[in-house]
Amino acid sequence: MVSYTELGLVHTVDLFKKAVSGGYALPAYNFNNLEQLQAIIQACVETKSPVILQVSAGARKYANQNLLKNMAKGAVEYANELGCNIPIVLHLDHGDSFELCKDCIETGFSSVMIDGSHYSYEENVALTKKVVEFAHSRKDYVTVEGELGVLAGVEDDVSSEHSHYTQPEEVEDFVKRTGVDSLAISIGTSHGRTKFKPEQCTRDANGLLIPPPLRFDILEEIEKRIPGFPIVLHGSSSVPAEYVQLVEKYGGKLSDSVGIPEEQLRRAAKSAVCKINIDSDGRLAMTALIRKVLTEHPEEFDPRKILGPARDELKKLYSHKNINVLGSANRV
Ligand SMILES: [Zn+2]
Repeated sequence: MVSYTELGLVHTVDLFKKAVSGGYALPAYNFNNLEQLQAIIQACVETKSPVILQVSAGARKYANQNLLKNMAKGAVEYANELGCNIPIVLHLDHGDSFELCKDCIETGFSSVMIDGSHYSYEENVALTKKVVEFAHSRKDYVTVEGELGVLAGVEDDVSSEHSHYTQPEEVEDFVKRTGVDSLAISIGTSHGRTKFKPEQCTRDANGLLIPPPLRFDILEEIEKRIPGFPIVLHGSSSVPAEYVQLVEKYGGKLSDSVGIPEEQLRRAAKSAVCKINIDSDGRLAMTALIRKVLTEHPEEFDPRKILGPARDELKKLYSHKNINVLGSANRV
């Protein structure tokens, strides 16, 4: 057993307090390999942004839990070496059982999500409460994110064909009875790179798909009911057309890709939304650059030369998000 404090990590309580009052959101970037982690830490150190490193159950299986734990510890030391002691959280994304959350808490995670949103309301309350009681009873308080409302789309093991928006009248009761530290809500974001079907969208002059706007009315209603309480948005990639076009130019096929416009995420970040999850954009950036290198340099077989440019692009992407979308730059 290991506590996250031994790894140099922090939980989210103070970070969320500052983010809510400062009108910005913390980046929650998923990682499962070395290059992604390097890019995240480099970007967040350069922009002086706190960061939440997210690991899904699938990523934990892929990368091995012992390696992940030590990579997070290494990330703290790497940030110090780069010259800025940024706060780093290690967070379980979409924990689906008490056992998984417990296991993560006992192996160095400083924060976990328990996603009971696919169960009935009462079952969601009971499961979330059980995880909160375990996490908060630790000597080193571990923070817990719950979820109300269902997002559409596919993300690792999480998938749902239909979304339903969070019902504002449930949030106050849920937060009070479960004791969660933050709440993920559904206001029209969606997992994956095809966030909406073309028939749900309009098209601009260039034929690009424009998604339906986020439901800010629901967000405002929730904020009224639980003022200042930390809100989380999942599925918040913008799916930049440049990356989709680059992937397709070099042989990929990503038809009907559509994301959440960055201006809408910026607007959300200024509210009680204090954690925004971005995964698909990083996947697209990496895939685009890997395809480009392999196509332009077919003789290349050194993985560093193939993954290095992808890593550099990822770093650029994350810096841009911190500065222009989340507003988390210069908050350390
Ligand atoms: Zn999610």
